[in-house]
Amino acid sequence: MRIRHKPWAKDMIAQHPEIIIPAPEENKGRWRNLFGKEAPLEIEIGTGKGQFITAMAERHPDRLFIGIEREESVIVSALKKLLERPLANARLLYVNAKDLTDYFAEGEVDAIYLNFSDPWPKKRHEKRRLTYHTFLENYKKVLKPGGRIELRTDNQGFFEYSIASMSRFGMVIDKVSLDWHASADFDGITTEYEDKFSEKGQKIYRLEASFR
Ligand code: SAM
Repeated sequence: MRIRHKPWAKDMIAQHPEIIIPAPEENKGRWRNLFGKEAPLEIEIGTGKGQFITAMAERHPDRLFIGIEREESVIVSALKKLLERPLANARLLYVNAKDLTDYFAEGEVDAIYLNFSDPWPKKRHEKRRLTYHTFLENYKKVLKPGGRIELRTDNQGFFEYSIASMSRFGMVIDKVSLDWHASADFDGITTEYEDKFSEKGQKIYRLEASFR
C-alpha cells in the first residue's frame, strides 16, 4: 500500500481515545467490559481504512469488533468512518499485530479476519506474512477453542502459501472459495482493496480455517 504521510494523524489519534484505544494492553482479558457487553469478539488484522470493520459492526450489532492497524496515516481513515457513523460495538487499535498476545488473553477472541494482507512475495520477507507460523502461533493463543480465521485475498501466491502454512501448522481448512463474490455465502460486505480488485475483474479467494 502506498502510504501518504499525514502530519495531523498523530494528534487526531490522540484526540479520540474513545475509538482508538490507548494502552490496549490494559484491556487484555477485559475487552468485553470495555464494550459493556458479553458478546462474541472478532478482530480484523490490517484493517486499513476501515470499510470492512464498520460494515460488519453495523450488520452485526450482537457482536463486538476490533480493527488493528499499524499505520497511523491509514488508521485515521478508519477513525473518520467511525466518527461519521458511531458504532457502540466497534473500536480500533493502533498497534502491530506481531504483539497480539500483549493485547488479548488466551481464548478471548472468537474470530480473526485477515483481509488482503500484504503478500510479501519475496522469500526473504516470508516472516512478515500474516500467515507465517509465528503469527499463527499467536492467533492460536488468543482464539477460543473452535474459533475461526477468515482470510480473503486477490493474490493467488499468498492464498496458496497461507493454505500450506496453516496446514503445516495442523490447522483445518474448513471452507475454500476461489470466487467469493459468486459464492452463495457472499454477504456483500467488502473491503477497500476488495472493491478495487473486483472492479478490475479479479476473482477474490477466501478461506475459513480453525485450530484443532
Ligand atoms: N484490509 C484492508 C483492505 O482489504 O482494504 C487493507 C489491506 S492493506 C494491503 C494491508 C494493511 O495491513 C495495511 O494497512 C498495513 O498497514 C496493515 N498491516 C500489515 N501488517 C500489519 C501488522 N503486522 N499489524 C497491523 N497492521 C498490519
